[in-house]
Amino acid sequence: MNQLEKTTFWQNLDQQHHIHPFTDTADLNKRGTRVITGASGVFIEDSEGKRYLDGMAGLWCVNVGYGRRELAEVAYKQMLQLPYYNNFFQCAHEPVIELSKVLAEITPVHMNHVFYANSGSEANDTVVRMVRQYWNLKGKADKNYIISRKNAYHGSTVAGASLGGMAGMHAQGGPMLPNVVHIDQPYWYGEGGDHSPEEFGLLVARQLEEKIKELGPDKVGAFIGEPIQGAGGVIIPPSTYWPEIQRICNEYDILLVADEVICGFGRTGNWFGSDTFDIKPDLMPMAKGMSSGYLPISAVMVGDRVADVLINECGEFTHGFTYSGHPASAAVALENIRILREEKLIERVRDDIGPYFRKKLATLEDHPLVGAVESVGLIAGMPLVADKKTRKGFEKPGTVGTICRDFCVENGVIMRACGDRMVLSPPLVISHDEVDELVKRARAAFDATA
Ligand code: PLP
Repeated sequence: MNQLEKTTFWQNLDQQHHIHPFTDTADLNKRGTRVITGASGVFIEDSEGKRYLDGMAGLWCVNVGYGRRELAEVAYKQMLQLPYYNNFFQCAHEPVIELSKVLAEITPVHMNHVFYANSGSEANDTVVRMVRQYWNLKGKADKNYIISRKNAYHGSTVAGASLGGMAGMHAQGGPMLPNVVHIDQPYWYGEGGDHSPEEFGLLVARQLEEKIKELGPDKVGAFIGEPIQGAGGVIIPPSTYWPEIQRICNEYDILLVADEVICGFGRTGNWFGSDTFDIKPDLMPMAKGMSSGYLPISAVMVGDRVADVLINECGEFTHGFTYSGHPASAAVALENIRILREEKLIERVRDDIGPYFRKKLATLEDHPLVGAVESVGLIAGMPLVADKKTRKGFEKPGTVGTICRDFCVENGVIMRACGDRMVLSPPLVISHDEVDELVKRARAAFDATA
């Protein structure tokens, strides 16, 4: 079979049996599946031999880049030695024990305990279980409301989707998790009106205080937020936002949950988004960059305040997954963290490639479609707008973003469109030349869209 015949073969087979996540099947069948066959560094390749600069690191996860032999080798070795054993019922294995120690080292000082799962969604399910269990043990079982934000993304299990504020997921029908309520997001560019970003940050943070008062502080157990909203379009909060959220959580005795599934493991130029924004979370769900996506693994880091209660007063915490802390995934996560440390990739994001990425992306601000370029470290969002001066969007939100995303693919760069916000989150190993290439290809896509 030549390349074209091979592609057609896989596309036809894909259509027959495979239901894709977050995909309109009719649209997919019309276009034909893009079959990805290989990857190296920051590039992926499809079945027709076309290479794309992956500006999204897969789904915000391949932090150390593609093609790392070290990660494949530790997985192979671990699978030969101990492919599986569980961490239930008084058992554990060496990779998970060591990983727990290393995670305690790299996370904020007050976080010293970890619970494992397999995906960001499962980590957030675990958060719900922990919040409920914690307050129950404290004799305050009524503190079972969790406050989140509109347009947040916390996963696709029922708990994850309930915590998230994605309208489409809530509209699927059937009840979501009760006792989850959503306040506005800190999206100044799109929703800040005439306020300054700082004023707006305070205003939306104070919605949390209003909501707590409305429900009653004795009813609210936790607030959850991504330090930077990723799937919502890379919404970087104004500087006033997180300090005010922290103050409110402290004042009303509400657990603060920082969802680090995207921001964690170097994306923002520090180990965690909580370091970048000076947040002191009680619980920190994490996934993606934890293993750079080479194998599935996730975790909830537990702050001392919650851990003391869960460990000393709980007896059995009746929660866990068959693959919680899977040995091969744990070994890969350990090796991934070793690479991040040894190659100083996080320092590089903070001091070198992050600022360079920002400077180069800023050259796109002169483009008539690009309303702004917003970035922290190696995560960026660019709203496409009808009117740059008034920050006004398009009549049919999302249409221009989708067109632009397709032109990106045509021009050999993977960017994602979250509505009309074009977002980027490349592997942390991206070179200066590759940033230049990414910006060049993005400009070509914007030109084709305009
Ligand atoms: N939390 C955040 C902030 C995410 O961005 C995601 C996924 O994109 C999740 C949770 C869910 O992770 P998963 O897809 O691994 O379940």
